[in-house]
Amino acid sequence: MEHLLKGKYEAVIGLEVHAQLITASKAFSSDKNEYGSSPNSNVSEISLGLPGTLPQFNGSVLGHAIKLGIACGCEIRHENRFDRKNYFYADLPKGYQITQDKGPICTGGKIHLKTSLGEKVVNLTRIHMEEDSGKSIHDQDPYNSLVDLNRAGVPLLEIVSEPDIRTGEEAYQYLTEVRKLVRYLEICDGNMEEGSMRCDANISVRLKDAPEYGRRVEVKNMNSIRNVQRAIEYEVGRHIELIEKGEEIKRETRSFDAIKGTTFGMRSKEMDNDYRFFPEPDLLPVLVNAEDIDRMKSRMPALPNELYAKYTKELGLSEYDAGVIIDSKEIALYFEDMIEHTKNYKAAANWLSGDVKSHLNKYGIDIAHFPIRSKWMAELITMIDEDKISYSLAAQKLFPAMIGEPKTSPFKLAVKLNLIQESDELALMELVDEALAAFPEKVEEYKNGKKGLIGLFMGEIMKKSKGKADPKKTNALLQEKLEA
Ligand code: ADP
Ligand code: MG
Repeated sequence: MEHLLKGKYEAVIGLEVHAQLITASKAFSSDKNEYGSSPNSNVSEISLGLPGTLPQFNGSVLGHAIKLGIACGCEIRHENRFDRKNYFYADLPKGYQITQDKGPICTGGKIHLKTSLGEKVVNLTRIHMEEDSGKSIHDQDPYNSLVDLNRAGVPLLEIVSEPDIRTGEEAYQYLTEVRKLVRYLEICDGNMEEGSMRCDANISVRLKDAPEYGRRVEVKNMNSIRNVQRAIEYEVGRHIELIEKGEEIKRETRSFDAIKGTTFGMRSKEMDNDYRFFPEPDLLPVLVNAEDIDRMKSRMPALPNELYAKYTKELGLSEYDAGVIIDSKEIALYFEDMIEHTKNYKAAANWLSGDVKSHLNKYGIDIAHFPIRSKWMAELITMIDEDKISYSLAAQKLFPAMIGEPKTSPFKLAVKLNLIQESDELALMELVDEALAAFPEKVEEYKNGKKGLIGLFMGEIMKKSKGKADPKKTNALLQEKLEA
């Protein structure tokens, strides 16, 4: 929106993220928590909410919540209670969702992110535990709505941000960081396309420096991080247009249409929903003591921000390389393995962000399916550092050969393919002599001062040796011969 009409307006955005947790069973029952099972197969009396059944809390949900709380620097509540959020819907057989209303397990905390304009901190309001509802399917049967209760009771963490976000790009980066975190912690697969991570965006616009926030709308149904950004950008433009026309913003819930790139109203929110929250009487308080938290702190896996700091500050990698490596936990672990076997961190990073990444992209696979062992990638780097093979032959010939024959060590493979660099002086001398003999008049020109011609002789030698001549030694021999 022409840079928010040249600085007149400011957008205010707060995000609510629902992360579906990776656990064996549901939040309050032993029903399987599994995506993709046939409809209504993971459903016992408890998921159905039949009278007389009692919920039982799944401790791994608590562990996941504490891990995320520690990672975000939240305050963690010691005595956790649950509440019932009541409403009627076909995919909610109990008539209520078990959640934490007034007493979320985590409060405060921050998400650090980078945008094209620099670094930014978004404060968190809260993270709480709750259960998911089932799924209503309206587009498979022309006459009926279908209900699948496999998801009913699946554990969620809801992560609520303060309204600290100002642009669609910041929202994009915020979600990317949250997704990275839950993936590093292995508590959620972070897949927005499959709905295991979902985001509602609260958006308002105000005059820049106005003391109060504008009236907000809530946008739902964005199935990718990119679409959250698009929805926000569209919505902010719509608000500004209405405000400029002197019209009111309606408090409502809107839905994003990914094909048109627009939003449309779903329901008005003139009156806040009354969920009649009250304490869940069937569950005991869940206690977390300080020792539990300390024990979990000592067992936290390396987090993306810590690795980023290590790579840029201790290992001297560029921000770009460090960013590529921490982008996924699997790549970071692969890199960590590689640098157990080589101290050439820069080369290790270059191979990962260059040739390895293009191979993965080309075949649409992730590093788990990359055939070459990290140790052998390190050996490849060492061979280059020790002048056993030139970089260009390593990249063009040996690396593809290693992918085709991942069981053979790179050294053996290089010997077998005759790629080992020629560094024997006598053999190199012969090549030098041949090259000079082929261009007698160029040799004259060189001697008369056209020093750039050394490139021509080097090229000739590389061609003759099929790229195997040791460039440093060859260059030295050439100069020696030409200056003689
Ligand atoms: P609700 O339960 O109605 O969604 P919450 O108080 O839980 O309301 O707020 C949800 C989100 O809305 C939070 O992320 C918060 O930061 C954000 N938010 C609150 N006020 C505004 C506003 N005026 N503009 C944009 N976002 C807002
Ligand atoms: Mg909301």
